[in-house]
Amino acid sequence: MILVVVETGADGATITSLETLTFARLLGAQLGTQNVAALVPGTVDDATTVREQLAAQGVETIHHAGGQRMERYCAAAWAAAIESVAPDYVLAAGTPRGSEVLAHVAARAGSSMAANVVDIVSTNPLTVSRQVMGGAVYEEMRLEGRPTVITVAGHAVEPADADRTSDPAWQDFEPELGEADLVTAVVRVEEGEADDTSALTGARVVVGAGRGVGGADEFEELLELTNLLGGTLGVSRVVTSLGWRPHHEQIGQTGSRISPDVYIACGISGAVQHWAGCQSAKTIVAINTDADAPMVTKADYAIVGDLHEVVPAISEELRRRAGLGAATGRG
Ligand code: FAD
Repeated sequence: MILVVVETGADGATITSLETLTFARLLGAQLGTQNVAALVPGTVDDATTVREQLAAQGVETIHHAGGQRMERYCAAAWAAAIESVAPDYVLAAGTPRGSEVLAHVAARAGSSMAANVVDIVSTNPLTVSRQVMGGAVYEEMRLEGRPTVITVAGHAVEPADADRTSDPAWQDFEPELGEADLVTAVVRVEEGEADDTSALTGARVVVGAGRGVGGADEFEELLELTNLLGGTLGVSRVVTSLGWRPHHEQIGQTGSRISPDVYIACGISGAVQHWAGCQSAKTIVAINTDADAPMVTKADYAIVGDLHEVVPAISEELRRRAGLGAATGRG
């Protein structure tokens, strides 16, 4: 049985959990099994939505690990819950929680684990491809032992419904937990600053801004271009570290991973940690004064020049075309 750990929130299963369920089905197809189950730990805000989402993913059984001791996040307790279901394969999204819990699972079982997996290379023995160094390098890894433990990298697959909707049984259970399973647990949660990265991760067009913009007050031209394109602004880590823009706009290894149709990187050098977050864009356009900057050499298209001249020129052309479009439409 392939078991997927499903993280949930106010809107049901998280996107990365749905991606992982899709990945699990692809793994199941290669292994010759359709037996994909889900383990949902802790309090579930909207069980009806979660059940519908998991049915669309073709999940056969939903194991809900509940009870008072599962109310607060605790990695070892989640691992104990997974262990009690005795899966052959355990998958979770490569989120901080997914990675921590599955490391516990692998350590408890003495089996092998691959983190940030993006693809299945072969099944006998199971060999997977995974991201390392923030996605700059891929390596193949052979996995042995049971259960086989895998975290799936964000955006490794698009979440897709199964061909056949299932009617999954919802099985509540309280895992048996020892004191050792509860030595670390979340005791208090504080709300941080608003951190809505969904606009960025779901955007079809992203305009990126780096140190080359020059200062916190220099973003007007880029915001105008972003608006004209109906896109979303993203930034490099330097920009957030300098306090020019909020952290939730950061793209990269320690920010959001984006996969828009078009990414226009302005004044961004293209360091490996930034590239890790934008390399999935279908088309990358770089605007940079340095013709040798990695972002320029790796981009599909590059404009070598000062962004404060290039960006307003593009915006002007877009405005002009929008005006022409309206005239043509009337004709
Ligand atoms: P710079 O590297 O300083 O590049 C500025 C660019 O702007 C240059 O290429 C320059 O030629 C160009 N430029 C200057 N003036 C103009 C102009 N007028 N017009 C056009 N171009 C101009 N970085 C991230 O972005 N995201 C991450 O998630 C991230 N995670 C990290 C994690 C770790 C553990 C570490 C160590 C680093 C991480 N970094 C991350 C930082 C990363 O290594 C780089 O330092 C950062 O991406 C550089 O930002 P930048 O390209 O804006 O600045």
